Amino acid sequence: MARIVMKFGGTSVADLDRIRNVAQRVKAEADKGNEVAVVVSAMSGATNQLVDWCQKLSPLFDAREYDTVVATGEQVTAGLTAIALQNLGMDARSWMGWQIAVETDGQHGKARINSIEAEELVERMKQGQIPVVAGFQGIGPDNRVTTLGRGGSDTSAVALAAALKADRCDIYTDVDGVYTTDPRIVPGARKLTKITYEEMLELASVGAKVLQTRSVELAMKEHVRVQVLSSFTDAPGTMVVDEDEVVEQEIVAGIAYSRDEAKVTVRRVPDRPGVAAAIFVPLAEAHINVDMIVQNVSADGTTDMTFTVGKTDLPRTIAVLEQARQEIGYAEISTDPNVAKISVVGVGMRSHAGVAGTMFRTLAARGINILVISTSEIKVSVLVAAEYTELAVRALHTAYELDA
Ligand code: ADP
Ligand code: ASP
Ligand code: MG
Repeated sequence: MARIVMKFGGTSVADLDRIRNVAQRVKAEADKGNEVAVVVSAMSGATNQLVDWCQKLSPLFDAREYDTVVATGEQVTAGLTAIALQNLGMDARSWMGWQIAVETDGQHGKARINSIEAEELVERMKQGQIPVVAGFQGIGPDNRVTTLGRGGSDTSAVALAAALKADRCDIYTDVDGVYTTDPRIVPGARKLTKITYEEMLELASVGAKVLQTRSVELAMKEHVRVQVLSSFTDAPGTMVVDEDEVVEQEIVAGIAYSRDEAKVTVRRVPDRPGVAAAIFVPLAEAHINVDMIVQNVSADGTTDMTFTVGKTDLPRTIAVLEQARQEIGYAEISTDPNVAKISVVGVGMRSHAGVAGTMFRTLAARGINILVISTSEIKVSVLVAAEYTELAVRALHTAYELDA
C-alpha cells in the first residue's frame, strides 16, 4: 500500500466527462489499496477568464480581491470531483485551502506556502476517505484567501505530498511527460523518462509550463517523488529524480520559451554608482521580479538600462519607475511586450564549452536578432522578437540534436 497525491490540471477537468474520467482514475488507485489525496486545478480557461475580469475592471487591481476572484475556479472543480467520486461509490470530501489549512505568506497573487496542517486529512484517509483539495489557494496571515501564482496547483500538490509524507506525487496533465521542449511547438520533441530536479527547476523557471517552478523547488527540498503523466493515456510518464539516478547525461536536457515577459528600457540615465540601485530597489520593494538585465555603456556619460519583468507586472513597473523618476534621473522609459525568452538548459553545460556559441550561431543563421542575453551555470537565455519564438525553438532543438 502506498500513499499517493494525484493532481489534475485544467485540461484534465475541462468538462464533466473529463471529471468523470478523473474520478475513474482516482478510484482505480484507491482500489489497489492505496491511500489517495486529490488536488485539482480550475477547468481549462476558467482562471484566464477570472484574471481577465479583474484586469478589465482595473489594471492596477487590489491583489486581495484578485485572489478572492481567481481562487473560485478550483472551488468548483473540487466540489464536482468529489461528487463524481461519490457517484462511483467512493467516500470523498472537498477541501478549500482555508479549511485544511494551507497557510501562506501575505504575497497576494503569488503567495508561498508556509505550512499545511495535514493531521485531519491523514486521519480521514486512514478511514478510507478521499480528500479532494482545491489547488492554487491558501490562507494568508491576514486571514484572507491567497493564490499561489499561475500554475500554482502543482505546488499545492507537492506541498500536500510533503505534508502527508506521500510516497509519490503524480501530476496528471495533457501531455504524457516532460519533453525536450514543448511538444506543441516541436512535434519531434523527445519524451524524457527521467529528468533531474535541477534541470526541471531551470526549465520551469524559464517557461516550461509543465510544472510550476516552486513545485520543483519544493519537491527537491522535501524529497518528494514527482511524476508527470497524462490523464488521457496509460503511457508511462517522466520521473523527476536526483542527478545520480540519471545514467546517460546529455549536455542539453531541453529548450524552453516564455512569452510572459516584457522588455523595459530606461533611457539616458546618468552613468554613475547607485543608478542601478535607484532603479531596481524600488522595483524589489514593490515585489516586482526583474529577470534579464543589460546596461549599455555610452560615451556621453549616460547609459540605457534594459531589463525584463513579467508582462502582468508591466503596468506596476511603469508606475514605480515614474514615481522614482527624480531619484533615477532618466530621460524616458520605453517598453516592448512583444518579446520571447528562449532558453537552453542542461547540467552538462558545467563541463562542456560551446553551448552558447551554438545557440548564437543557430539564431544568426536564421536572421534572428538577439536583444538581451543572460546565462547561469546550466542555462543560456536570449530575448528575441516574439514572432520568432517557434522558429528559434525548432532551429535550436535540431541544432542540439534533440529531435526524435
Ligand atoms: P495543466 O493544466 O495540466 O497544469 P499546463 O498547461 O500547465 O497543464 O502544462 C502542460 C503543458 O506544458 C503542455 O500542454 C505543454 O504544451 C507545455 N510544455 C511546455 N514545455 C514542456 C515540456 N518541456 N514538456 C512537456 N510539456 C511542456
Ligand atoms: N488554475 C490556476 C492557473 O490556471 C492554477 C493551476 O492551474 O495550476 O494558473
Ligand atoms: Mg499547469
